[in-house]
Amino acid sequence: MDLITKDLLINFLIILLPLFLMQSLYQLKYAYRFENLKEWVFAIFPVLTMVSCMLFPVGIGDGFSWDLRRIPFILGILYGGYKLGFILLFFLFAIRYFIGGNGFYLTLITISLLAVLVLFFSRYYMKMSLKQKLTTSCSLIFLSVLMSVFFSEKLFESNMGARMWVQYIVINVTGMFITTLLWEGIRNNFEVLQKLMKTEKLEVVSHLAASISHEVRNPLTVSRGFMQLSSDEELSPQVRKFYVDTAIQEMDRASEIINDYLTFARPEIDKKEKFNVFEEIQGVADILTPLANMNNTQLKVSSEKNEYGFVLGERKKFEQCLVNIIKNGIESMPDGGKLQIDMIQHSSTIQITIRDEGTGMTQEQINRLGEPYFTTKSKGTGLGMMVSFSIIKEINGKIRVESERGKGTCFTIELPVCN
Ligand code: ADP
Ligand code: MG
Repeated sequence: MDLITKDLLINFLIILLPLFLMQSLYQLKYAYRFENLKEWVFAIFPVLTMVSCMLFPVGIGDGFSWDLRRIPFILGILYGGYKLGFILLFFLFAIRYFIGGNGFYLTLITISLLAVLVLFFSRYYMKMSLKQKLTTSCSLIFLSVLMSVFFSEKLFESNMGARMWVQYIVINVTGMFITTLLWEGIRNNFEVLQKLMKTEKLEVVSHLAASISHEVRNPLTVSRGFMQLSSDEELSPQVRKFYVDTAIQEMDRASEIINDYLTFARPEIDKKEKFNVFEEIQGVADILTPLANMNNTQLKVSSEKNEYGFVLGERKKFEQCLVNIIKNGIESMPDGGKLQIDMIQHSSTIQITIRDEGTGMTQEQINRLGEPYFTTKSKGTGLGMMVSFSIIKEINGKIRVESERGKGTCFTIELPVCN
């Protein structure tokens, strides 16, 4: 293997490393909700990669410097748009200027031409299919290297030899192919994750629907029975009134259950507001009682309505968070049991504990709790806890888990009071 190939491969490593760093950052931002990780941070990677490529070039002498800078440069513009493009362009010219030599003018010509071309394509790039993206990025780099070959031979009379040029072109294009594939893979991964997080609620809602219809059938059957009884003509007015009243009561119960469910299921625009934690707990308990009944579990809420128990945050999201945790508790008790929810008000925090008598978790499972896709259920999504954790974090709360295998699990949530 020639020296140039070896050095270019090291250059390629410089490109791969930041790509994996970027993936880890994406993981932090989207899966673990590091909201204050700003979008522009990701722009550092193409710049960093390009600069490192140029600082560790393949030494060829002649005042020319050979490296894989075109890969981060082209992809940076295609994915990041023209703003990132100008930053990259600035760094590229500045660094190339300090390196010096005839190559600077070669760079000035070829890269300027390339930049115009890439900027043109960047408008359509995001809407392309993977195949089109690969073709675009690879053709762009192929063209640009070809341009360099042409200008350096014609204008600067460099004598590299065809063999070198072929190697240089092959490595550039293969490098571009692999990098584009990886970049797309990383992006797709997180897009899918974000989409799934959005459908998580639908999943819960569809689960609840089964228990709701089950629960509504009872009052309907009862009221139908009383209606039938009251149609007897020989009844005294008092008894008939009693029958009809009972029927109405049962009907009201059915409609209440459906109402609770619909309020939870209705999508709402997220907005921050002050809400009463007690009311939310009570509301969520009402929504989940049918599910608990269907699973032979008892749902017990012991907390008092408190005028100071207010928290600032998105109400609907908080509901969703409680539903996810309580639903897990119910599901952890396949043979029935008790699920106890307590709320204690301290001076500056509200503490909610949700305790079940279910299967519990091993230490390893506790550690993995909140990781995307971690589930032990055959039909689980493994997103419920992740969503819950991130919601609590958004309200600046804390969540703790204690669990013992065979005994049960206790979630403790602490929220800052807002009065
Ligand atoms: P899913 O419920 O779809 O499996 P979650 O993110 O809600 O996904 O939960 C992830 C995993 O954490 C569950 O599969 C279960 O193994 C475990 N888990 C969560 N809560 C409890 C609990 N209260 N008791 C026992 N295991 C639990
Ligand atoms: Mg769950």
